[in-house]
Amino acid sequence: MATLQEEIQKRRTFGIISHPDAGKTTLTEKLLLFGGAIQTAGAVKSNKIKKGATSDFMEIERQRGISVATSVMTFEYNDVKINILDTPGHKDFAEDTYRTLTAVDSVILVIDCVKGVEEQTEKLMEVCRMRNTPVIIFINKMDREGQYAFDLLDELEQKLGIKVRPLTWPINIGANFKGVYNLYEKSLNLFSANKTKIEKEVVSVDIWSEELDKRVGERDANQLREDVELIEGVYNDFDRAEYLSGEVAPVFFGSAVNNFGVQELLDTFTQIAPSTQKRQTDTRIVEPDEKKFSGFIFKIHANLDPKHRDRIAFLRICSGVFERNKFYKHVRLDKNVRFNNPYNFMAQDKEVIDEGFPGDVVGLYDTGNFKIGDTLTEGESMFYQGIPSFSPEIFKELINLDPMKAKQLEKGIEQLTDEGVAQLFTQSHLGNRKIVGTVGELQYEVIQYRLEHEYGAKCRFDHRDIAKACWITSEDPKKLAEFVRLKGQQIATDKDGNYVFLAESDWILRMNIQNNPDIQFHFTSEFK
Ligand code: GDP
Repeated sequence: MATLQEEIQKRRTFGIISHPDAGKTTLTEKLLLFGGAIQTAGAVKSNKIKKGATSDFMEIERQRGISVATSVMTFEYNDVKINILDTPGHKDFAEDTYRTLTAVDSVILVIDCVKGVEEQTEKLMEVCRMRNTPVIIFINKMDREGQYAFDLLDELEQKLGIKVRPLTWPINIGANFKGVYNLYEKSLNLFSANKTKIEKEVVSVDIWSEELDKRVGERDANQLREDVELIEGVYNDFDRAEYLSGEVAPVFFGSAVNNFGVQELLDTFTQIAPSTQKRQTDTRIVEPDEKKFSGFIFKIHANLDPKHRDRIAFLRICSGVFERNKFYKHVRLDKNVRFNNPYNFMAQDKEVIDEGFPGDVVGLYDTGNFKIGDTLTEGESMFYQGIPSFSPEIFKELINLDPMKAKQLEKGIEQLTDEGVAQLFTQSHLGNRKIVGTVGELQYEVIQYRLEHEYGAKCRFDHRDIAKACWITSEDPKKLAEFVRLKGQQIATDKDGNYVFLAESDWILRMNIQNNPDIQFHFTSEFK
């Protein structure tokens, strides 16, 4: 039997992130293929929202089905247990991705060599930087006429605010792409466009010998020699400690669709990526090898079958051993809960498990007890941190269109917002007006559709002129109460009963911040 320490050491729990279309799905699939978890390409479906042929919400339903299947992909490779957590690429679901990033120990970032750093890449990297998450960069599509490799590296450093260190180096690009040179193994990996074969030709060569000219031609050989000299002059040696602290991102070049560069990535990843990391709670730091189990819920998925209203809560184990049928403390509800059928996610399957270890993600059937961010422990009262709600960008008022179904609507919107589809703000002093805040328009379609199909409630959304929602606190409860009384219309409460200030414009927000020094305004819900 492996010890807890050994179980922890062998786990690598990570997410693959990218701007849509850079190649995240393709790379995920190739990692599964190289890892032996799947036998054929095409097994991993894209979870992208496709615009066009079908209406958006049908597309979202399709996507939701795929997301359940690809939420967590687990496989073993060289005695390492790899847990890939899927992240939606569409920007309207960015919050989902941010939350998933709180449950990973590291990240692989995919960049399209033609497009370079794109908008979504920057946002995702910001979240990684906030938490000092170690990042490996895979520059993809080297078979296309992309940008010059040194320019790409400069762009990565400038736009992502992280130092980079190439570990492989491309030989030419696009139609003339010859392969990559592994700067540490000092070997050549020669490219041939091939979407099915996963073997490849690797030769170790001295790049100063004529062998290199024979392999890649004199011009490219000379260019490579020049590039390697430059790299060695410009970049420091790769230092794993700097990678682990999130300061330096090692960079690989390849072409995922051609199975090229994936093996190096996977091999290096399993060697250098961190195993299960310690985590911060509101009271202390929890080490993964502590005896007592603890973990948190980072994602909730509604059942696709409307007849079964149960949901799947995704638990990230942070310490100790999670056991089936054992009672654990649900800290927020202060009650004991246990799970008969916790399950684990294989590449294409799921199976009931008896135990899980730190770094693992376990699926728990839930009948409505969980909210995103909930913590489970063996008795200790603490909350895992780092799953804030961000101030939404769009606000609409939920209007009930069928007075007979008020209860269903109420329950539906409660549960959907528990899942993190959107944030709910209530103005109880104004007859319980409900304001739904999101980061994208698509969410309103999702909510409307799901309220009707899963809860039988019809609704409409009316635009509200709100630019920002800020959580407000004060050291002096009287001053907070006074502010709340004065601001009337602009005050609401979030799901946990915290006061929120709804500002019509950034200017109004600024004025209120200036004029009320005793009130603290917070842009995320995590201010305790
Ligand atoms: P995602 O949105 O990031 O998940 O991107 P996908 O993996 O769905 O890839 C987007 C498109 O790029 C698909 O048509 C892929 O076949 C294509 N693609 C992925 N990798 C490569 C590559 O290495 N070279 C080329 N030319 N196309 C690629």
